This record gives sequence, structure tokens and C-alpha cells, in this order.
Amino acid sequence: MGDVNEKPLLILGGGLMGLAIAHDLAQRGKRVEVLSRSRSEAAGFVAAGMLAPHAEGLQGNLLNLGQLSLQRQPKWIESIETNSKMSCGHRTCGIIVPFENQKDFETYPTYEFGEKLKRTELLKEVPGLSEKWILGLLFKQDGQIDNRRLLMRALEKACVTLGVHFQEGVEVIEIIQDSKKFNGVKIKDINGNINFLESKEAVLCCGAWSKQIFKTLPIFPVKGQMLSIQGPKQVLKRIVFGPGIYLVPRDDGLIIVGATSEREAGFQKGLTPKGQNHLREGIESLIPELNQLPHMERWWGFRPCTPDEGPLLGMSSINGLWLATGHHRNGVLLAAITSELIGKSICSTPLSNEERSFLSQFRWDRF
Ligand SMILES: Cc1cc2nc3c(=O)[nH]c(=O)nc-3n(C[C@H](O)[C@H](O)[C@H](O)COP(=O)(O)OP(=O)(O)OC[C@H]3O[C@@H](n4cnc5c(N)ncnc54)[C@H](O)[C@@H]3O)c2cc1C
Repeated sequence: MGDVNEKPLLILGGGLMGLAIAHDLAQRGKRVEVLSRSRSEAAGFVAAGMLAPHAEGLQGNLLNLGQLSLQRQPKWIESIETNSKMSCGHRTCGIIVPFENQKDFETYPTYEFGEKLKRTELLKEVPGLSEKWILGLLFKQDGQIDNRRLLMRALEKACVTLGVHFQEGVEVIEIIQDSKKFNGVKIKDINGNINFLESKEAVLCCGAWSKQIFKTLPIFPVKGQMLSIQGPKQVLKRIVFGPGIYLVPRDDGLIIVGATSEREAGFQKGLTPKGQNHLREGIESLIPELNQLPHMERWWGFRPCTPDEGPLLGMSSINGLWLATGHHRNGVLLAAITSELIGKSICSTPLSNEERSFLSQFRWDRF
């Protein structure tokens, strides 16, 4: 459990990245304390859980980082499942991207990684797909994790099993530094009491809210609204990823429908008729008969976005304060590689050349 005389490393934010990094560090023997304002607002509980570097059409460094994380997912999941004794609902179910015309199909950024499907093959994969979709790419290597019902809880349990300490309902209100060295944080508890927590090291994982406590970070929220419908088991075999809309079938027939992408909404909470209509019309455009299935839940959350939509990873301008934020649409996919890169860096575990180059590509001051 690390040196008991040393103050624990602080994890600022107990969402997906906070939990994934706390878990990694605890496995490496580090003493860790997670400061979490509200677990329920975390995007980790909102996401659709797609592992989709290819279906999302990622490009450049972000595609490479996503592909590496996808490779490391099975081992990462295994460690969480072993430590928590819970399933994470990981499935390499494949993702279909349908197209209305040849040009969009051939110019899709990840075209070379997909199996090419004509309309007849597409229909075999996705019965009921509406007529306008005439071509498709099947990315068999992409998949999903049931983040909302399983992964987040499994991560919490794994952390607790490994001795991670949690303070829930605690807001970090100020980062304290001394000559550019991290010195601790000021926190406010649910009763409004303010305290100082001293530490030499912390990881900032406040997701979409990161800029509120570290003003120079180029992070802003992108709101997403979702809903779920309940079908019979196996109603959809694979994820269907259309433009602006996707359908993610869980094992038990639940289908997650996502998502709006609302940059102008800021931190405005709640569902809107426009957002919910977008989802209903999206189902109609892909597989109209799914609109007959009963709706189960509707929810929303905030993606942490940066100007180039890539994460901010590694040491910040304050020595001892690490960054793991800004994962935008791909935090579930990138949690495996993020926690490993940050965990290894903090514990001075040697990094490969490839890992070092990712840390340099995703530095906070690259813009
Ligand atoms: C609608 C939607 C769909 C998505 N779908 C996918 C998908 O299919 N695949 C994928 O890979 N990714 C997806 N994502 C993205 C993914 O959910 C995020 O990238 C990821 O959750 C970010 O993790 P995080 O830990 O940085 O932020 P979060 O999970 O949001 O956690 C941040 C935490 O920090 C806490 N916090 C904030 N400020 C403070 C403070 N001052 N003090 C203490 N705590 C604080 C918050 O309470 C919160 O719990 C989706 C996101 C959304 C919103």
C-alpha cells in the first residue's frame, strides 16, 4: 500500500479517468485518495461505451492512440474483473457504419480498416436497415463496454478492494502551488466547510469541468443526450453507427441510442425536445421498426472537449500535478491507455518509445 508516512497522491475527480488511474496506481502499490464532487454527474456513467477508433473515423495521432488502447483493453478489463470480481460487460461485437453513397463510403477516414459490405450483405448484418443505406463498413475489431451498468461500478469496487480511499461529495475549489510545485488543494465538503489537503502529487481528472479549477486548460463541455429502448435479446447483433446517431445493443436486448453533440449548450442541464427528437428521427433513419420498442430511460451528460478533440495527458505546468482529461467522445476507449501511461509515468516505470511519443503528442500546451 505504499509508504504510510507519505501523504497520498490525490486524484481530483472520481469519474472514469479518476477511477481508472486510481486503480492503476493502487495496483502499482501507490497510496491514493480520490476527491469526487459527484459520481452521478460523471460522463463515465453517461457514455454509450463504444470502443470505436475505426467506426468513429478517427485520424492521425488520435487514431493511433485509440488503436493502442483497443489492443490493451482485454488485459485492462481482466485486471478490473479480477480485482472487483465483477463483469465489465466487454464485447468485441463489431460496429457497422452504413453509407448512402459511394463517395462517402470510399472517403471515410478509416475505410482501409473495414470489411466492405454491399446492400445485401449489409441487410444480413442489420435486418430492417432502411433502404437509403446502400453500402457499409464493418469494423469487426471495434466493440463495447457496458460502462453505465457495469464498468464504473466494477472500477469503484476494484479500487476499494485495493485500498483506495474515497471522499465523495467533496469539491476541489483551488489548486495550491509553491514556486510552480504542487502543494495540495483546498476542498469544500457538502456542509460548506473548507479544508486544505496537503500532497506533493495529484492527477487532475475533472472531465468537462477541468477548466473551472485550472483556468489555462483548453477544455469545454459538449453536451450529449441519450435514451435507451428495450428489445428482445439479439434484436441487433452489432453496433450501428450512422451519421449523428448510433445504436448500441447490450447483451440483454437493451439498446443505447446516442447522442446529440451540443457545443452551444455549455453546462445547461436537462433534456430538450429538440435533442430527444434528434434521437427519435435518428432511429427512424436507421431502423424505423425500432421506434416501436418501449423507451426505458433518457439521460444527458458533458463530454470534456479540447480544440483538436484529443486528450491532455502528462505533467501540467505545475510540477507534481498530472493531467488526464479532455477525452471528449472517446474516454471509454482511451481509459485503458490513459491509466497505463499516467500510472507508469508517476511510478517512473520505463515507457516504450511509442508510449513516450504519445505523451509528447498529447501534451496540454500543444495548441
Ligand atoms: C453522451 C455521451 C456519450 C459518450 N459515448 C462514448 C462512447 O461511446 N465511447 C467512448 O469511448 N466515450 C464516450 N463518451 C466519452 C466519455 O464518457 C468521456 O470521455 C469520459 O467519461 C471522460 O472521463 P473523465 O473522468 O475525464 O470525466 P467524467 O467521467 O465526467 O468525470 C469527471 C468527474 O470529475 C468530478 N469533478 C468535476 N469537478 C470537480 C471538482 N472541482 N472537484 C471534485 N470533483 C470534480 C465530476 O463530479 C465527475 O464525477 C461519451 C460521453 C457522453 C457525454
